[in-house]
Amino acid sequence: MLSFRSIASATVLALAACAAPVSEPGASAESTAVAAHDPDYLVFGSHAEAVAWFQAAAAPTITGSLLGSVTAIVPEEDPRIAPLRAMIAAHWGPIVQRFAPQIPAPRVLLVESTFSNAAILFDNRVKKTADLMLVTTKILERSPEDIDALLAHELGHLVLKNGDPVRADALLKYYSVTPGVEPLGLTQPDDPAVRGVLAPWRAAVANIGFSLKELNGYPAGTGVSTMFLGRYFGAHFDPALEACTALNTQLRALVDSLRQMRTDGVGLSGPPELRVKLDAATRAFEDAAAPCLRPPPGQSLFQAMGETFGVPPEGLEAAASAEELAIVRAAPDAPSALFAVVRHARESMRAAEAAHDFYAFRMYTGEEQADDFAMTVLALEGKDPVMMGRSVNHPDALRASCEASVEAGQIPDYGGLVDAHHSACFRLYHARAFATHLAAGGEGIPGVALSQRARGPEARFDPRAIIETD
Ligand SMILES: [Zn+2]
Repeated sequence: MLSFRSIASATVLALAACAAPVSEPGASAESTAVAAHDPDYLVFGSHAEAVAWFQAAAAPTITGSLLGSVTAIVPEEDPRIAPLRAMIAAHWGPIVQRFAPQIPAPRVLLVESTFSNAAILFDNRVKKTADLMLVTTKILERSPEDIDALLAHELGHLVLKNGDPVRADALLKYYSVTPGVEPLGLTQPDDPAVRGVLAPWRAAVANIGFSLKELNGYPAGTGVSTMFLGRYFGAHFDPALEACTALNTQLRALVDSLRQMRTDGVGLSGPPELRVKLDAATRAFEDAAAPCLRPPPGQSLFQAMGETFGVPPEGLEAAASAEELAIVRAAPDAPSALFAVVRHARESMRAAEAAHDFYAFRMYTGEEQADDFAMTVLALEGKDPVMMGRSVNHPDALRASCEASVEAGQIPDYGGLVDAHHSACFRLYHARAFATHLAAGGEGIPGVALSQRARGPEARFDPRAIIETD
C-alpha cells in the first residue's frame, strides 16, 4: 500500500477514508508532522512514492493517449531532471508570492517516451491533483525557452487546480465576438445566450462518454486502443472477416489525418466541408464496424462499458440524459446503442451549427487560464510572456508562418470549441495580446485564495480514473 504525507488534517482523513484505492487512511506519526498541506492535493513524501502512485494509478489510463509508449521512468538522480527542477524553482518564487499554494514545489516525474508532452494529473477517485509534474524525455529536445514556458503552463494547472472537473466546469465562460475584435477571455463575462447553444453542443460530444476532440464527437480517437470502442472491438469483432482486422488501422489513419489538420492549424470550427468529410468518414466507419461485431447477447451499452472499464454500469446510466437512455433501451445490443447514441449526438450538433454562427463563439477554459497564469508568472520573473504562445507553435516552420500571419494583423482560427486548448496559432495571437495587456499595467491572473474547493455541478461520471491536462 502507498502512503501519502498529505494525510494530515481531519478533512483529508475523511476524504481518504471514503476513497480507499490509492490512499491509506491510517496516517502515521510521521505524516501528522507534515501538517497544513492543501487537502486538494496528493502530496508525495518521496520520489519513490510518486513513481509507485504513477505506475499503479496513472500510467494504466494515460499511456497511449497522452504519453505514447512509456519505456522507462527516469531515476531521480538523472542529470536531465535538475534543469527542470531549476526552472520550476524559478517559477515557484513568484507563484508563492502571488498565489500562496499550500504545497511544496512539485516533484518532476520524467518518463521516456517519443511523445512530446507534459502534464499535471488529477486522480478522480480521490478528487485530488497529484503534486507532480509529468514530463516526457521527448520534450527535452525543445528549446530551454519553450520548456520553461510549458512548465509554467503546467504549474498553472497545478496551482489553479483546473484539472479538477468541478473547477474546470466552474471557470468555463462562453461568449461571442464581433468580427475583427478579440477581447481577452479573462475579462469577458459569461453570456447565457451563447452558453445556451454551446453547452448542449459540447455535451453532445462529451456525454457520449469519451470526449474525443479530433473526431468532433465520434467515440474513437487519439487513444482508440485504450478507449471503449477499441477495447470492445478487440474483444468482440469477428476475426474470420479479414476486413474487420484492418478496421482499426483505417480508424487510426482517419484519426491521424484529423490530428494533422489540427497540427496544421485547421480547427474543426473551420471550413464546413471538413465537417461533411468528417461525418462521411465516421459514418463509413460505423457501417464497416457494425457487421464485424459479435456482441454478447442481452448486454446493454452501459453493461458493456462498465465491463470494459471496470466500473459500475449504474454510474454510467445515471450520467446519461433521458434521450440517451431512451436510445440505449430501444437498441437491440451494445454496438447498435453506441452508434445510435453517437448519431443522435452528431445530429444535435449539426442542427446547432446550422442555426448559429459558431465562428463567433468563444470559451474561456482551464487551458486559457493556464496560459494566462504562465504569462502572469513569466512577467513577474522579468521574462517575455509571449514565450508561452511561441512554445505551443512547433516545429519552427509552423511557428514562423504563425508569427508572420499574426504580425500581419490576421486573427488565426480559434480552434474546435470541443478542445479546451485553442488552436496553437491562436494561442500565440492571444499571448501577444495578453503580454500587451500586462505591459500596460493590466492585471494577470489575480492572486486569490485558492484553497477553497470551487462550488459547481458535480462532474459527470468519467470512465477514466485519471484526468490529464497537457
Ligand atoms: Zn494545459
